[in-house]
Amino acid sequence: MRAFRYARASDPADAATLVAGEPDAVYLGGGTNLVDLMKLGVLRPGLVVDVSRLPYDRIEHLPDGGVLIGGAARGGRVGRDDVLRRRYPALIRALLSGASAQIRGQATLAGNLLQRTRCPYFQNTTVPCNKRDPGSGCSAIPGAHRDLGVIGTSDHCVATHPSDLAVALAAYDAVVEVRRRDGTEVLVPIGDLYRLPGDTPWIETVLEPGDLITGVQLPPPPDGAVATYRKVRDRWSFAFATVSVAAVLTADEVRLALGGVAPKPWRLTATERLLAGTDPTDDEVRAATRAAFADARPLPDNAFKIELAVDLVAAVFRDLRPVGAGR
Ligand SMILES: Cc1cc2nc3c(=O)[nH]c(=O)nc-3n(C[C@H](O)[C@H](O)[C@H](O)COP(=O)(O)OP(=O)(O)OC[C@H]3O[C@@H](n4cnc5c(N)ncnc54)[C@H](O)[C@@H]3O)c2cc1C
Repeated sequence: MRAFRYARASDPADAATLVAGEPDAVYLGGGTNLVDLMKLGVLRPGLVVDVSRLPYDRIEHLPDGGVLIGGAARGGRVGRDDVLRRRYPALIRALLSGASAQIRGQATLAGNLLQRTRCPYFQNTTVPCNKRDPGSGCSAIPGAHRDLGVIGTSDHCVATHPSDLAVALAAYDAVVEVRRRDGTEVLVPIGDLYRLPGDTPWIETVLEPGDLITGVQLPPPPDGAVATYRKVRDRWSFAFATVSVAAVLTADEVRLALGGVAPKPWRLTATERLLAGTDPTDDEVRAATRAAFADARPLPDNAFKIELAVDLVAAVFRDLRPVGAGR
């Protein structure tokens, strides 16, 4: 048993004061990821600052049709919001595809975005892992990497980001609200939140020490958009994505984000450009999706993810394309 201190922040300024000068302090949301990693000895914070009761649990429907979801909003409540269900179906499908009702009832939006990779070597303190122990090496590359990344990875790390929700937020062009330790507020587009591993895989986001995620802004969905989230996994429930896709489509616009393939939600920008404003055949969707993997670095046991992603995007187009469209 390793001792640590616990403090509950009474307001946002108090949270900032508590973590100031404490290099090994962490924020606590629902604790469904952090506490597990502490029990495994993967994370050993000296101070845990509980921010789950700060006044950031609102779901606010904005006059422009967008939505603001507070960083402390629990997944269970977000999943039951009728307006979100109607207007952002890919978001709600992604949310409900993750974990279990019990875990979603506890987990917060901010914690979901910052949950750590499920790479088995990151979670096992007896083996090298550059993300957990910088410079120690990557056990996954020569090891069991079937579930790990094929694109955006590096020679130092092939871990994937596990959040389903983040993938859908990427397709909706969400913006993350961050409160800096000095009280200033910054807005970070979700596409810029996560860093690729390069040779510093332990630095996972652009956030600075003490940054608090206070909410996520969802712009109004594009007019006439149809959207969905599909997730392929080893079990029907209680399993992370092998590959997943969030799609938001209009007659003119295509937005596609993949999960399970990269260290961050992976927008298929090349595919989006090729397909936008077209009425593509199944083969054209497949070719355009494959093109987005030109820079992929698959490993022997996970190369199948590329074809799986191609299949999944094609399936989503078949689902979402209005009847009679296409050639
Ligand atoms: C069995 C199981 C199955 C799961 N399956 C899935 C799945 O299929 N898909 C999926 O997406 N997820 C899945 N999850 C993960 C689950 O969604 C996360 O554990 C959860 O979302 C984390 O939220 P939390 O509030 O509990 O975060 P915490 O565990 O409290 O924190 C996670 C991280 O976020 C940081 N943090 C928390 N709040 C803030 C804040 N406001 N500002 C800055 N940093 C903050 C913490 O310091 C920590 O680093 C699963 C979890 C379990 C245990």
